[in-house]
Parts: sequence; structure tokens; C-alpha cells
Amino acid sequence: MRNTWVIGNWKMNGDLAANAALLKDIVAASFSGSANLAVCVPFPYLAQAQQALAGSRVLLGAQDVSQFEQGAYTGEVSAKMLKDFGVALVLVGHSERRSLFADIDEVVAAKAWAALTAGLTPVVCVGETLEEREAGQAKTVVLNQLKAVADVVGAQGLTKCVLAYEPVWAIGTGRTASPEQAQEVHGWLRVALADMAVAQIGILYGGSVKASNAADIFNQADVDGGLIGGASLVASEFLSIAAAA
Ligand code: 13P
Repeated sequence: MRNTWVIGNWKMNGDLAANAALLKDIVAASFSGSANLAVCVPFPYLAQAQQALAGSRVLLGAQDVSQFEQGAYTGEVSAKMLKDFGVALVLVGHSERRSLFADIDEVVAAKAWAALTAGLTPVVCVGETLEEREAGQAKTVVLNQLKAVADVVGAQGLTKCVLAYEPVWAIGTGRTASPEQAQEVHGWLRVALADMAVAQIGILYGGSVKASNAADIFNQADVDGGLIGGASLVASEFLSIAAAA
């Protein structure tokens, strides 16, 4: 049995007061389902979230990490710094980082490596744009993104990662991939992983997941839960999604 995950990606949202309320509601629910839960919060709120989540089963995540270990890298946050705040996992290669902040494949791979070296679980995000999908390139795109990371961290490194398929056209658009579309891509990724003898890692789906569509997507054979953006900012919605995994 593979692990299932429901991971909230808060993106650049929240403030001290709103976070306190959200974290309190998530923890108070004492989630009893089988999925692993995590929330990826903005850097300044790591300490707040670490404190609020202490003693709960909800893991703390970050949304990005530097590929460098330490030194003159103004504005960067190292994997070791994240560890200092009890961070267990970190997103790498989110499409917003790839498209808006020039996180190219090589950088994503280096970030995954940096996270692994510090003992963090990288959640490696892959996904095609609408243009790429319509040009019939979805498979090539996601497999190339996976390969770029595999080339650096190796099969052994990959076994310590979680993978997230997030079609760019489904992120924040309200347009979810159909369960069949998600399964098709997850299937390609699963085969590619099996070819590298990486069998057990979780592959999450992300992109407009809500309580109302989560179960249909999570029921697919190769979907092991979700990476949740907007819906993770509402505790009841996030917890309903978690219950569906
Ligand atoms: P939405 O759930 O808001 O579409 O965002 C998905 C996402 O990018 C999670 O990382």
C-alpha cells in the first residue's frame, strides 16, 4: 500500500490572525483518516505554524527552498533553516515558481537535492501548460520534468520524494482535470518510476481540487491524494478533502 497525502499549499496568503484561526481549526478537528496531512505555509509564518501544529499529526511544509547550502544568497532560505523550524517537506518546482521565478528544471533538481540532503521530503511538482496539452506534448513535458530531477537525485533519492502532478491549466482556474485525465498522466509517471525501480512513492494530483470533486479524483488507481491550493485556506474544506483521500 502506498501512502496517501493531502497537502495544503497556502501560497502567498494569510496573516498572523487568519493563520492562527485556520491552524486551530485544522488541529482541533483531530483528523482520524489514513492520509498524511501537511500545510505548506509562507516562510515568515513557519514558527507560528510549528507552534500551532506541535503535538498534532499535521506536518509542516514550506513552499520553496534554496538550492544552495548557505552563504551570500540574498533572500534565499536554506533547507537547514527549514529544518530548524520543524519543516518535514518542501514543494519544489511548483508551476508558479517555474513560470514566474525562472525555476528551470536544473534549479528544481538542485532544490530537490538540497532538500534531500537536509533530510526534508521534496514534493516535486510537474505539469504541462494548456498549450503543451493541446499540442499533444503533455506526456513528454511531465516525463522530462521528472527525468531532470531523477538525473540529479537518482532512483534512491526519488524513493524519498513525493511527486505532484499539477496541470498548469487547472491551477486556480476552477477547471479540474477529469479523473481520467489525471489518471492517464499519473499512469505515465508510475510507469516511468517503475522503469527506474521506484515503486512506492506517492503521486498527488493538484489543480482546483475541492471537497466536491476530491473523491472522484483520489479514487483513481495511481492518484495518492492531492496538493490543494485555494481550498486549503478553509479548514472545513481542507478536512473534507483529507477525508476523501
Ligand atoms: P488550486 O487548488 O488553487 O487550483 O491550486 C493548486 C496548486 O497550485 C497547489 O499547489
